Amino acid sequence: MLLNHKIAVITGANRGLGKATALRFAEEGAQVMLIGRNYEAMEIVKNLIQDKGGAAAVFAADVTDSDSVCRIAAEIKQTYGRVDILVNNAGISMEMPLNDMSVDTWRQIIDTNLNSVAIVTKAFLPIMIQQHSGSIVNVGSGAGLRGLPGSCAYSASKAGVICLSQALGDEVRGYGIRVNVICPGPIDTELFQQSERRDYLLKSGGDVFSPESVANGILFLASDMSGGMNSQVLTMRGVNRW
Ligand code: NDP
Repeated sequence: MLLNHKIAVITGANRGLGKATALRFAEEGAQVMLIGRNYEAMEIVKNLIQDKGGAAAVFAADVTDSDSVCRIAAEIKQTYGRVDILVNNAGISMEMPLNDMSVDTWRQIIDTNLNSVAIVTKAFLPIMIQQHSGSIVNVGSGAGLRGLPGSCAYSASKAGVICLSQALGDEVRGYGIRVNVICPGPIDTELFQQSERRDYLLKSGGDVFSPESVANGILFLASDMSGGMNSQVLTMRGVNRW
């Protein structure tokens, strides 16, 4: 198994891509630490994992709340002694022209998609630095590589995640820590189904990934399969774009 005995932290793990990644990691032998706001939904994911003989634990937090996330990092370190993998997956999307977007909405998107990646990474990075190993996978988006109309804030937040990943990867290389970012096209989750950009995206390409396929991409980056790969962007598209 690719992640045997690894301690893997995943944010936004109660549904969508985060849930698919948690299930996939558990199949590969990881002990999965699920972080998110919806405790009950994460308990269901944990039970699914345990029913298949895997191991998982649930921690409730909003990823924009540094104090809560730091408390969880301390608890995980005390209980498990290490953190091998961090997947910064939690994210939101709200589509509207910038002209119609309130400053509060802009801030909420940047806070949830970009600032949270710094907050969660800063909570877990000292553990990885101390153990001199770790693999961080950030979930970006194709929209971060080429801005999507109606998604100025979302696109900017994901472009920030890409640059943060590249810069941080080089900062922590000496500690044996890898940082990579995955940039998928549309994924068939609630975020995509509820998107006002859904029809535009379907018309302009039609490549929609299952959460399970993208989870395999995250597994590749998180595991030793991608050993030596650092500060890189893995794009997942089904059409010749970007
Ligand atoms: P979903 O809306 O299905 O899931 C998003 C997850 O993030 C939920 O678990 C949600 O929890 C969690 N989340 C949102 N805000 C917070 C917060 N403040 N604190 C904690 N958890 C939070 O979307 P996806 O699974 O599609 O998205 C996962 C990632 O993939 C996101 O980063 C997204 O930007 C990215 N992505 C998605 C694409 C798509 O087409 N779907 C394409 C490219 C990238 P809650 O239930 O509490 O809201």
